[in-house]
Amino acid sequence: MRDTAGGLAKGRRALFGRRGGIKTILLEKVLPGGAPLNTGRIENYPGFPDGISGRELMDRFAAHAKAFGLPVREFAEVLGVTQEGESFTVTVNDETLTARGVIVASGTEPVRMGIPGESEFVGRGISYCATCDGMFFRDLDVAVIGGGDSAIEEALSLANIVRKVYVVHRRDALRAQKILQDRAFRNPKMEFLWNRRPVEIAGGQQVERLVIEDTKTGGREDLAVSGVFVYVGYRADTGFLGDLVERDPAGFIITDEELATATPGLYAAGDIRKKMLRQVSTAVGDGATAAVGLERYILGARQ
Ligand SMILES: Cc1cc2nc3c(=O)[nH]c(=O)nc-3n(C[C@H](O)[C@H](O)[C@H](O)COP(=O)(O)OP(=O)(O)OC[C@H]3O[C@@H](n4cnc5c(N)ncnc54)[C@H](O)[C@@H]3O)c2cc1C
Repeated sequence: MRDTAGGLAKGRRALFGRRGGIKTILLEKVLPGGAPLNTGRIENYPGFPDGISGRELMDRFAAHAKAFGLPVREFAEVLGVTQEGESFTVTVNDETLTARGVIVASGTEPVRMGIPGESEFVGRGISYCATCDGMFFRDLDVAVIGGGDSAIEEALSLANIVRKVYVVHRRDALRAQKILQDRAFRNPKMEFLWNRRPVEIAGGQQVERLVIEDTKTGGREDLAVSGVFVYVGYRADTGFLGDLVERDPAGFIITDEELATATPGLYAAGDIRKKMLRQVSTAVGDGATAAVGLERYILGARQ
């Protein structure tokens, strides 16, 4: 019997589990590393004053977890978790594992705009990841939808590659951190289209046009772009947990201060849980808390 299992992305969860002497496995749907693998530079993680690429930071996390002998199973998608007595059954692809405890750290997925043309052009001009797809738009014009940290970070990284970046935002001010805003406003390749929302994407084989609407006047205009990068929010997909957890109205998992969920032995960490700030640093902190919380539960120290 394994003691812990789960979609543990920031290896920190599993690393603490290993250090605590608990038999632990990390189950990952694709490859370990999560969202930072698709992020350009991370500049706000302590210890890296010059910033570090998301991929390199994740490689270091993985090496650290490996140094403690953590088994990692790649391309292992958790399809279901159920509990019977004090034991969990975790369905992974076409097999099942048994565990005393589970930490869920399955992150979030980008929200889609839900406008005509969006699904048809995914991979043909619509993207949710500038770091993955930006190079396909070298010297072309693109639009970024959104005004938060992710939108502006990704717009800035696109500006190094493309000819022009239109930032389409439904409000008249950005929500992104001030340091990112200052950089964006100084960048000659970026143009801000305030109080506009995307209503349609059109083209032939590839995206050729984004139709935007003025949120105040209702007037519409066409933006000639080859790519549209969407950053309108992130959603939690926790269907594989059934009724084992409580969720907030947006679907994020509700935990207590030890990161325990409504089901004893089931913990949640990182972006998947209801929290104020979703960052690598807070995901790492969650990992430590959840692992120690689960260890206390397994050892019977938690009442
Ligand atoms: C564009 C962008 C830029 C960002 N920039 C920064 C930044 O500069 N600084 C910063 O601190 N943070 C940044 N963040 C936020 C940061 O990436 C997240 O807060 C952090 O990665 C959360 O970690 P996590 O482990 O909770 O989730 P994730 O990193 O999303 O990892 C979740 C993992 O779970 C796996 N998974 C999902 N479902 C299952 C399943 N059913 N079975 C098995 N595995 C599963 C996924 O494949 C994934 O690997 C950025 C995020 C984005 C999207």
